Amino acid sequence: MDLAPPAMLEQRLTESVKDWRSPLAGHVGFRNWTLGPARRRAYCPLCFEEDLAAGRTPYFRMDWIPALVTSCWDHEAPLREWADCDSAGRRRLPKAWLYRTGDMRLATPAFMRADLEAIRQLCDAPPSKDCPSLEVVLSWLRWVQFVAEKRFDAPMPPYLSGRTVEDDLRSDLRFLIELASRHQDRHQEPPLADVACPRQWPEWFGPLPGSARRREWKFSDSGIRQTACLRWRRSYLFFAVRTLVGTKSYGSLIAETSSKFPAWTVWWEELLGRLGPQQRETLEWHQKVSMKSFV
Ligand SMILES: [Zn+2]
Repeated sequence: MDLAPPAMLEQRLTESVKDWRSPLAGHVGFRNWTLGPARRRAYCPLCFEEDLAAGRTPYFRMDWIPALVTSCWDHEAPLREWADCDSAGRRRLPKAWLYRTGDMRLATPAFMRADLEAIRQLCDAPPSKDCPSLEVVLSWLRWVQFVAEKRFDAPMPPYLSGRTVEDDLRSDLRFLIELASRHQDRHQEPPLADVACPRQWPEWFGPLPGSARRREWKFSDSGIRQTACLRWRRSYLFFAVRTLVGTKSYGSLIAETSSKFPAWTVWWEELLGRLGPQQRETLEWHQKVSMKSFV
């Protein structure tokens, strides 16, 4: 459900659906960026599968709207991207789902079956030798989601006068995401997260999508809200969380033990060698100035 549905739609739903109650009634906001309405393609194939098994038309949850949400709150499975959208970005559902004709499960699109398979393969994968492994990296992203975002109907946390380590982490995380995803339009260098993207897992992480590259935005907030690509969202989150895992302040919070992962400074040094001159200058400046307090 969109956050601003037309009044007529709400009225008609009230008239035609018994005991209908707008899900917006329980909505109490999100803590960080939310995706633009036409960019909300993230979905959980397991939730959709449950909807179908229960005879419901699968629907996109409000909980999948925030940019920092990359896994299902209920199943903890990584979200996937709904592939059937029109040129304006509107999601299309199979007709048999909308009109509930026959066994709705038979109308499951091929890409959704492939998405279900990708999640099953992830669960059945043998332990990997990568360090960190895909499983570990996805668990970091889930952790960040739980700390930095909330479900749509969960109450906003109360404002407390003293700052906690989680408050500091949230603001550092925000800063790192902005740094990682900034698209500098004066030159042709890709954002930092594009270079840092873990390309060994193309099913889950990807570079800045080509459609975004053509845009002329300069500020990352717009870039973050207007990018539907889930694999790119995971990439800038990866840059942010990998940096934080390599700090003494947050490493043990996120990864329980940070000692087995190189310090953020070591990781950034390695990245610097792969960056273009403008991005390298930016990263070096942040390393010396704004990241001084990181240990
Ligand atoms: Zn789910």
